[in-house]
Amino acid sequence: MRTLQRQEETAMKIHVNRIPDEGLKEHASYDPSTMDMDRDDVHLREPFEVDAFISKADKELVVDVDIQAPVHFTCARCLVEFTSTLSADAIFSYAIQPTDVVDITDDVRQEVILAYPLMPICQPACRGLCTVCGQNLNEGLCAHQKE
Ligand SMILES: [Zn+2]
Ligand SMILES: [Zn+2]
Repeated sequence: MRTLQRQEETAMKIHVNRIPDEGLKEHASYDPSTMDMDRDDVHLREPFEVDAFISKADKELVVDVDIQAPVHFTCARCLVEFTSTLSADAIFSYAIQPTDVVDITDDVRQEVILAYPLMPICQPACRGLCTVCGQNLNEGLCAHQKE
């Protein structure tokens, strides 16, 4: 398990004048606790990773991002906690001046919120809970399920 180098890697601020014509690959770790994301429906407990390819045209900066975030969900059907990886791909573009420093944090936050499922399911075939006795039907059927 690798350790995060927080000082160097937290957030991604892009200095437009340091982006070469051929573009640049960047990587950053984001700490969700500093991103105002702990809303009722979005819970990230661990830092997450963002890979980006940054390129610039005349007055436009284009950032192609790949976001991978470890997440802990509670299954909407059976209420069991499970872990998963939230992935999102997006392309951000910004109107730029040569001396700008572009912070993509707000857009990253938006993408994570958009990608976050409202009704996470532990497995597609999850059978949920018995509405009568609350038995987790993934673990076996209760008397109410045997007609
Ligand atoms: Zn489930
Ligand atoms: Zn039952």
